[in-house]
Amino acid sequence: MLDFYLGYAMGQQTTSRAASLARSAAAADGTRHSNRIEDLNERVDRLVIVLRATLALLEEHGITREMLTAKIDELDLEDGTDDDRVREGVVDCPSCDSKVAPGLRRCQFCGTEVRADDGHPLGRV
Ligand SMILES: [Zn+2]
Repeated sequence: MLDFYLGYAMGQQTTSRAASLARSAAAADGTRHSNRIEDLNERVDRLVIVLRATLALLEEHGITREMLTAKIDELDLEDGTDDDRVREGVVDCPSCDSKVAPGLRRCQFCGTEVRADDGHPLGRV
């Protein structure tokens, strides 16, 4: 799994391929999508630089790839699914049992706080 992340972040082939796919999609879908894809490409480029710097610093400070892989696996499982994605699910309100949509800190019906500042669900009261 770590190889995927490193390959994605470091691999020029992957980046070139992504850019090529983005250009193809932009040509097919028009200017609005083209602008959005350009914006996404810029964000990915910034993330690649941040990730390269982070990995270099981690290696300089003795963090091994095995340690990084274990942490990635741990974070991946925080949403309950081993799928290489971070997904925020629906939370049950502890006060009124309503379903609270992802992204909301408080229940939309009774106002009870259901997620912490970091977005993780609070335990049932
Ligand atoms: Zn509620």
